[in-house]
Amino acid sequence: MLNTLKNRFEQGYRTCSYPKEKPAVFERYRGKPVIQKDVSQKIVEMCANACPQDAIDIGLKKIDMGRCVFCGTCERISNGAFVKFTGDFEISTSKKEHLVTDGDLPALAEHSKQHFKKLFGRSLQLRQVSAAGCNACEADLNVLATPFFDLARFGINFVASPRHSDGIVVTGPVSRNMKTALLTTYEAIPDPKVVIAVGSCTITGGPFVGSPEITQGLDTILPVDLFIPGCPPHPLTNLHALLTFFK
Ligand code: SF4
Ligand code: SF4
Repeated sequence: MLNTLKNRFEQGYRTCSYPKEKPAVFERYRGKPVIQKDVSQKIVEMCANACPQDAIDIGLKKIDMGRCVFCGTCERISNGAFVKFTGDFEISTSKKEHLVTDGDLPALAEHSKQHFKKLFGRSLQLRQVSAAGCNACEADLNVLATPFFDLARFGINFVASPRHSDGIVVTGPVSRNMKTALLTTYEAIPDPKVVIAVGSCTITGGPFVGSPEITQGLDTILPVDLFIPGCPPHPLTNLHALLTFFK
């Protein structure tokens, strides 16, 4: 007992102060992209041609964060003349089309106030389904249970049974082999329920887009309430999305 107290005293309080204070992220982290509006069409085209995800809309001069894997190629080859990735990790949206952005994102809170805050305000239980993810999205969700993020302090938990959950969190491109298991899990969750798409694979197919083996976006088979972009999304992006949307 004394050892436990001594250890606690030595370690101090390790849980991050988010959402009260925004913690600094690693300097090489790529968050919200901000498009330089006066960029020439030639540079936009050069970036679009180099983009492995076909995520750049040349006409609109915007990036589709649902497709983007945040590889940084467009920023690097344009020397920041087309886009600059910021350290802002608060990039989730309630509508898929809002992911196509030049840096402006609508507030996430308004939509959820009407739909979910009253319903799940004090307690939210979620079932996670990895539908052929590479395990990076899953790992960055798992880390939310560690003392640093401590998701449970907000009344949000991941549970084993879909029968005990209020919603489903999906990662991965939903391969043909996983589709039935995913839909069965969704059916087992009692109404009303929420669907959360985590990562570019789930939102659009990500690096596997166009493959006949995957679903081209979770919203083509389930009604998605929350889109969390990234490859994988930063744990703070996940945390911000869950707290803003449900708390
Ligand atoms: S950072 Fe995104 S938009 Fe830019 S090249 Fe990579 S995938 Fe394409
Ligand atoms: S979005 Fe990226 S990190 Fe997430 S499962 Fe797909 S490839 Fe892996």
